[in-house]
Amino acid sequence: MISSGILQAGGNITVDGTALWADILETARIGGTPKGGIRRLTLTEEDRQVRAWFAAACTSLGCTVTHDSMGNQFARRPGRDAGLPPITMGSHLDTQPTGGKFDGIVGVLGGLAVLRALHASGHETRHPIELINWTNEEGSRFAPAMLASGVFAGVFTEQEALDKTDRDGIRFGDALAAIGYRGAPPCGQHPVAAYFELHIEQGPILEAEEKTIGIVTGVQGMRWYEVTLTGRDSHAGTTPMPMRADALLAAARIIEAVSTVALAHGPDAVGTVGLLENRPNSRNVVPGEVFFTIDLRHPDDAVVMAMETDLRGRIEQIVTDAGIALAMERVWDSPAVHFDPACIASVRTATESFGYPARDIVSGAGHDAAYMARVAPTTMIFVPCAGGLSHNEAESAEPGDVAAGANVLLRAVLDADARLNP
Ligand SMILES: [Zn+2]
Repeated sequence: MISSGILQAGGNITVDGTALWADILETARIGGTPKGGIRRLTLTEEDRQVRAWFAAACTSLGCTVTHDSMGNQFARRPGRDAGLPPITMGSHLDTQPTGGKFDGIVGVLGGLAVLRALHASGHETRHPIELINWTNEEGSRFAPAMLASGVFAGVFTEQEALDKTDRDGIRFGDALAAIGYRGAPPCGQHPVAAYFELHIEQGPILEAEEKTIGIVTGVQGMRWYEVTLTGRDSHAGTTPMPMRADALLAAARIIEAVSTVALAHGPDAVGTVGLLENRPNSRNVVPGEVFFTIDLRHPDDAVVMAMETDLRGRIEQIVTDAGIALAMERVWDSPAVHFDPACIASVRTATESFGYPARDIVSGAGHDAAYMARVAPTTMIFVPCAGGLSHNEAESAEPGDVAAGANVLLRAVLDADARLNP
């Protein structure tokens, strides 16, 4: 079904999937690794090169390219009404140290494919259309992740971002200036009518269900905890079983409880113990102290809360029975993000107009869109990646799926252009 808005506003335009794939392969050479991945850490020489490539590509399509005080790049294609704020698309061109060719890149180059399609057709939109390349989405060199979209959305102050240092002690602000991308316009002083982000799923669901498009309704809520269990180190041969205070045994029971609680709140809940330190970690000593982390996630904050309450009750019972002292701290609480219903509807309409197989999906990972949702109507579009593999040089996606995602991005943007600020 094609909405009347799309029929009126360039509904027959599609992206050039071949050119999009060629862009992915061409930019993959900047920081390309022997294993077929990309090492393009933020604010490095490789990042500078890909930014220059991005600016030249957008300029050749008639766009004006600027960057703000956090180095975020904006490529603007003018609309009929210069007084309207832009409808934006975006993602990131930085990668993990052993990153793939698609994470973030599909969103920026997919947006470029949209600009190219509009340029080739001569289609005039009402709003300016803008493509954003966010600085430091990955957070690998400068933690935390999504730093510059976070400043844009007011989550972090610019000063705290500029003062972040990498492991060599280099300041973010100095690295930004060194590659020539500390712009004059203050980050965040930039009105946005809507924001759409195309991204690979980074999970296995779309591929397993043979869906081309994930209509993303939000980002799940997550909480992190740090737990220290203190028992008593004792001799493994001489301490009778009833007289032990075995911290690792209690930890094992708690790990089981994390899984039980997640399964009990299924199918959308996940719970993980991914880091554990056992002390003294000696084969003939009953472990006296264990430190571990817990990661709980669910699309609904109320369920995350219920999981925490359920888990705390189980943990207290386990440590009481085992005679173990417990110290448990919640160290991070990231509430669930619910994307804009009208933007989601634009993506759904666009997907249906192409007849692509699709399903609704909640993002399990964080994205720049999660912060943009705080300041503008926002949503995301997912396409499948092989085996759900990401943050890996073997990350892989199909050209047809990437082009389909860019087509949905194009029509969703045109739908928003017809719908917003009537
Ligand atoms: Zn990404």
